[in-house]
Amino acid sequence: MSNKQDYYETLGVHKGASVEEIKKAYRRLARQYHPDVNHDSRAESEEKIKEINEAYAILSDPEKRQVYDQYGHQGLNGRYGGPGFGFDIFSDLGGFGDIFDVFFGGGTRTGRKRSAGERGDDLRFDLEITLEEAAAGIEKELRLSKLSACESCHGSGLRPGTSMSECSYCHGTGQITQSQQTILGRMQSVVTCPSCRGEGQIITDPCLNCGGQGRLRMASTISVEIPAGVETGSRIGLRGAGDAGLRGGPGGDLYVIIRVKPHKTFERRGNDIFVDIPMSFVQAALGDTIEVPCLDGSEKLHIPEGTQTGATFKLRGKGLPAVNSGARGDEHVVIRVATPSKLTNEQKKMLLEFGKSMGIELNHDKGFFDKLWGK
Ligand SMILES: [Zn+2]
Ligand SMILES: [Zn+2]
Repeated sequence: MSNKQDYYETLGVHKGASVEEIKKAYRRLARQYHPDVNHDSRAESEEKIKEINEAYAILSDPEKRQVYDQYGHQGLNGRYGGPGFGFDIFSDLGGFGDIFDVFFGGGTRTGRKRSAGERGDDLRFDLEITLEEAAAGIEKELRLSKLSACESCHGSGLRPGTSMSECSYCHGTGQITQSQQTILGRMQSVVTCPSCRGEGQIITDPCLNCGGQGRLRMASTISVEIPAGVETGSRIGLRGAGDAGLRGGPGGDLYVIIRVKPHKTFERRGNDIFVDIPMSFVQAALGDTIEVPCLDGSEKLHIPEGTQTGATFKLRGKGLPAVNSGARGDEHVVIRVATPSKLTNEQKKMLLEFGKSMGIELNHDKGFFDKLWGK
């Protein structure tokens, strides 16, 4: 964490760069380091892309940029959580669509010969978990139907033993030149070959299992690690776990969207939880030690003499952990003093006596007292 990148350096812009300049720099770098372009150093370019993405996510957001300018990485970690968890939590990252437009499609490929199949679609999976699961973190198995690589052809789309043939329409170049007569004269333009869709090669013997697509819809089980501290709306991105790409193309991403079910006992506010504890006025007046429910069991809590209704006691560290730092919130115990109902005559008489000692006289009519004393 100590030698974190300088976001401005990563994007090659100066500190006062405008949003437009940042966007431009980002798009230029994104193309330069696109994994499809840098075949020989794929791992390196993927690493670079990650850095560029992170820098752009921060600098393109005015609020985050300001925090970064003022407090550096420290400020961002405290407020937004840092990337790099084994997987990324994107619950608060804006401008996501923008990032992916540049990387996967978005017109940057037209007119160029494509070397790989089309990328698969991104998928979304809504996952409901309990508050206890959100507090402790949990591994979940997701069952979903998605496009997966064909097992017969291993995603190539080719019938086993055959190979691709050169596209006769574009003679393997992946593009064709079109001429058009306009009022300004003859105009020539280069477009993607419609026959091979820019690949330069076509399948003449498609795999019988997948019909040459290299992928098939089937039931899949994907395991996902839910980190402790997630909340409703948290988004966990699993790279490549979405739909398989066309004919061996890169897989799309899978986004797991978290919904934390409301709890019957606890109310969550950020990383703190609140619980109402009903208590007799006898306990509240004389003080007591009570058992309070917690997310991971229960805890003893001493209530002092003369506790009022609404009084709040804090159990430190008994809330939920923060996703990025693991620092735990607190549990707030709110005392609700309950007025006794359904008292016996004996108890009512004792209360009257008690009231008298406090100088309290009740203004009931005579019938009330007659009934009480059995007259
Ligand atoms: Zn196949
Ligand atoms: Zn062609």
